[in-house]
Amino acid sequence: MSGPLAEVVVDIAASDVDRVFHYQIPPPLAGRLEVGHRVLVPFGARRVDATLVGFTSTTDLPPERLRPILALRDPVPVLTPALIELARWMERRYLCLFVQALRAMLPPGARGDGVRLAPRRWARLVLPPEEARRQQAALARRAPRQAALLQQLLDRGEMPQAELLRRAGASHAALQALVQRGWVEVREREPLEEEPPPPPPEAPPPLTPEQAAVWEPLQAGLAGRGPRVTLLHGVTGSGKTEIYLRAIAAVLARGQGAICLVPEISLTPQTVARFRARFGNRVAVLHSAMTPTERLAAWRRIRAGRQPVVVGARSAVFAPVPRLGLIIVDEEHENSYKQEETPRYHAREVALARARLEGAAVVLGSATPAVETYFRACQGEMGLLRLPRRVAGRPLPDVELVDMRAEFEAGHRSIFSRRLLELIHQRLAARQQVMLFLNRRGYHTVLLCRECGFVLRCPHCDVSLTFHQLASGRMQCRCHYCDHRQVPPATCPACGGVALRPFGLGTQRVEEVARRLFPRARIQRMDADVTARRGAHEAIYRRFAAGQIDILIGTQMIAKGWDVPGVTLVGVVSADTALHMPDFRRHERTFALLEQVAGRAGRGDDPGTVVIQTYTPEHPCLQAVRRHDYEAFFRREIEERRELGFPPFSHLVRAVVAGGERPAVERAAVLLAAAWQAEVAGRRVAGGAVTPAAPAPIERLRGRWRWHVLARATDLDALLEATRAAAAGVRERWPRDVQLQLDADPYNML
Ligand code: ADP
Ligand code: ZN
Repeated sequence: MSGPLAEVVVDIAASDVDRVFHYQIPPPLAGRLEVGHRVLVPFGARRVDATLVGFTSTTDLPPERLRPILALRDPVPVLTPALIELARWMERRYLCLFVQALRAMLPPGARGDGVRLAPRRWARLVLPPEEARRQQAALARRAPRQAALLQQLLDRGEMPQAELLRRAGASHAALQALVQRGWVEVREREPLEEEPPPPPPEAPPPLTPEQAAVWEPLQAGLAGRGPRVTLLHGVTGSGKTEIYLRAIAAVLARGQGAICLVPEISLTPQTVARFRARFGNRVAVLHSAMTPTERLAAWRRIRAGRQPVVVGARSAVFAPVPRLGLIIVDEEHENSYKQEETPRYHAREVALARARLEGAAVVLGSATPAVETYFRACQGEMGLLRLPRRVAGRPLPDVELVDMRAEFEAGHRSIFSRRLLELIHQRLAARQQVMLFLNRRGYHTVLLCRECGFVLRCPHCDVSLTFHQLASGRMQCRCHYCDHRQVPPATCPACGGVALRPFGLGTQRVEEVARRLFPRARIQRMDADVTARRGAHEAIYRRFAAGQIDILIGTQMIAKGWDVPGVTLVGVVSADTALHMPDFRRHERTFALLEQVAGRAGRGDDPGTVVIQTYTPEHPCLQAVRRHDYEAFFRREIEERRELGFPPFSHLVRAVVAGGERPAVERAAVLLAAAWQAEVAGRRVAGGAVTPAAPAPIERLRGRWRWHVLARATDLDALLEATRAAAAGVRERWPRDVQLQLDADPYNML
């Protein structure tokens, strides 16, 4: 099928070159090129990296304008034809450039950013050492360089060719001479090819009756005798991961591969160990702490089919697994699956699209499915299987709601309620472990003037600054968006008064109070400030799991994936911030977060208790958490969404217009809103509506002004078309400095 011309997409993210260009295939590359190869091409006066996306025999270009591909960047095609098709889908679905979608799929090293792409050449002795020593002595006078090469190989064994030549001070020709005599062998080896030796594969435990009841229909689906997409709704600790492992084993047995997506934060050594124990070094792990070289090496092993099981965070959905049979999305409701930069894709949706393209099955797992996913399952769009109980009859933890209004009335002003204090003391006495959760880092959340109400804000962003305590004990104000830092002012910048006071709770303050109240307990805080150091996350986890920490205080970071049997008490210091966020998903997020946090308690032999402190204990969302009643939460939530016309009853597209000058940004946004409105009306987009342009909730971010426009429709495809048309029409009329970000199915509305 390899026609005479190559279709190529160049690595330049600009809409005017976001199309396929035709190139000649020079004779040395004839028959060697495949779809998915990375190539180097002449482009205008430049040479640029590009991706080969197809072949053709027809072109509009006159023969003299056709130029040849200059070089193959990598002998292995990093992308598969199916992935290139997936990039086409992403381009439409997420309103991005084709090349942006392709880039999201490439490992960093393949983007031409300085990582060695070529596999390393290694040299080793073929001669037995004794014979080599004899030849070395004989060569010493007549061919000293060849002798030096032999000496190096005798001393060091197999080594990279480049290093060998450097150490021996020899030329390539000298090495070739040895190769030709058959004394030395040079072979290509990928960086990091050597993997740790596989542990003996662990025999899977027999399934519990509940797991068996789920496994039966799931297995049928995997074999093509049932739904190809399944939502596995199982409470924390119900044995979902065991089901994933079974499903992967079944797919492997058929000679296919599998991808298991987990949120970055739960990509803990513990999770990885479970996969490795079952599948040994057939598992590739992709995480954000990998160097580009490591990532590229993993990509090649996957592409070559040597590691058919891939475990990784969001971008692992693009892993080039050759015969993909299954994609698992664990904790499918997690917001971290949504990428917040272009292309703004959602890994769950990409997983579903990719599986459709490649005929793979999908398992979505969660204790608290996204409202949109659960709705789809209820509509029969996918199979729905349940694991309502924990393994081994372990009970779900008791959840107590503590009314902080009553604490206040009783004159108890501590950040810990009397009930929480009592339970912490009890657990410490019994040598059990405690987790305290608060979703705000720092010391205090704002600096407020008690006289005039002034709140200290970031000079570059439209948000208040958070108070942090430095190691020296001094205070510092920080912006959590742009990391601006400043010394707190002594007097109010607005009224000059001296009543400037820190306000609101952060994890640092919780830690300080806990240390004062429980002086003998071993206390550790874990939030983005603490784990900024590489490896800190793991180190804390290990100490906590080993029982060397009594009280762990943290943000979201401690909510997920942690399975520490010693934890019998989880305290939520305040549930109210999450509950009152300006976001239509706030209840869904709160429910999921609290269930996750609660899921950390009572995973061992001792039952767990969860204490949630709140000023609105009667809130239906909290009441549902108290009973671990997802169904009750869902029924209420879905009715509210239906009434308000929010997803899943509509699709949203958000446009953010940003620039350095406020008036220009406002004008551009108004222009966009009008054009968008006209397109939506003109095309009669079903359920279509466009809001007027308005300042974004965070109107200034990192020094740039931001306005936004929201559109909504029931017909997503029509809305996407209208959006593209509107954006293309107005962009040319905007000043250069003004940028447009489009977000289909946005999660972040700030
Ligand atoms: P989930 O993924 O739903 O949180 P896990 O798969 O992690 O649940 O299971 C919870 C605990 O139960 C783990 O410690 C796991 O090793 C154990 N477990 C799961 N399935 C079985 C089984 N069939 N037999 C024995 N132990 C099991
Ligand atoms: Zn800022």
